[in-house]
Amino acid sequence: MALPPTVVAAVERHLATVREDWRGHPFDVGDLAARHQLLPLVPEMFGLVALRRDGTVVELAWDSEEVRPVLAPKMRDVALLLGARRYHELSVLLPERPVDARVCGECRGVDVAPSVTCECGGLGWIPETWG
Ligand SMILES: [Zn+2]
Repeated sequence: MALPPTVVAAVERHLATVREDWRGHPFDVGDLAARHQLLPLVPEMFGLVALRRDGTVVELAWDSEEVRPVLAPKMRDVALLLGARRYHELSVLLPERPVDARVCGECRGVDVAPSVTCECGGLGWIPETWG
């Protein structure tokens, strides 16, 4: 997924200050992100899910330098959804809701908030690409 120019510009802008922006995070997110040039989306217990400037969503464990692409469409979309709370420019990368979207059976699409606990991840609907 190549990023639109406006998003690339935003990612570059945020990357320039990512070390300072995440300073004080218990897992040293800023340092890791700056070293690998990744925009943090979701700092988790196991590691970091982040966006590379080429548009790839990647993950790396706290104790490893190995950056691996996130292949599961659901994990990728939910990571972008969570990341867009902090970096609003990323919201254009989220799947577009079709008119006949399958509404989430768990939250029924009501009062949705980005969350990894709901089946829809907080979208309120289930994209076809999630399978
Ligand atoms: Zn839901």
